[in-house]
Amino acid sequence: MSIHQVSCPERILFLDEEMAALDRLEGGFRSERVLWCALEAGHEGLHHVIAQCVRGSETAAPWVMWARWPDTGEYGPERELLRLESCPEKFLAGNVSEESCCLPEGHAGRHGFEFGPPIREADVMPDWLLRRFFG
Ligand SMILES: [Zn+2]
Ligand SMILES: [Zn+2]
Repeated sequence: MSIHQVSCPERILFLDEEMAALDRLEGGFRSERVLWCALEAGHEGLHHVIAQCVRGSETAAPWVMWARWPDTGEYGPERELLRLESCPEKFLAGNVSEESCCLPEGHAGRHGFEFGPPIREADVMPDWLLRRFFG
């Protein structure tokens, strides 16, 4: 398994009410105050990052809450917490080392598994997030 890159350098700093909303999600994990955009560097459109992962139950599949925000007017109306479908693309689909894209469906830029090697610490998906996906 390769390391998923977080190449866009833009960060989101969650507001208190956003943190509270994320922490209220049943089956969620401890949310992080600051996260890096998960899309490829230089992408178009809104920045996106997974804000919270929610464990599945016997009756419900696990799902992820995304945060997205614009380059300008970071706290404007385009800033949202919302559920998005995952990008269906897989690297080596059907293979034991199959790797998911881990980005939302219809995302800008290349698929998550196509990014280059990490260039600095901030490009590496943090451990707590890796554990959610692959733990
Ligand atoms: Zn971005
Ligand atoms: Zn993708």
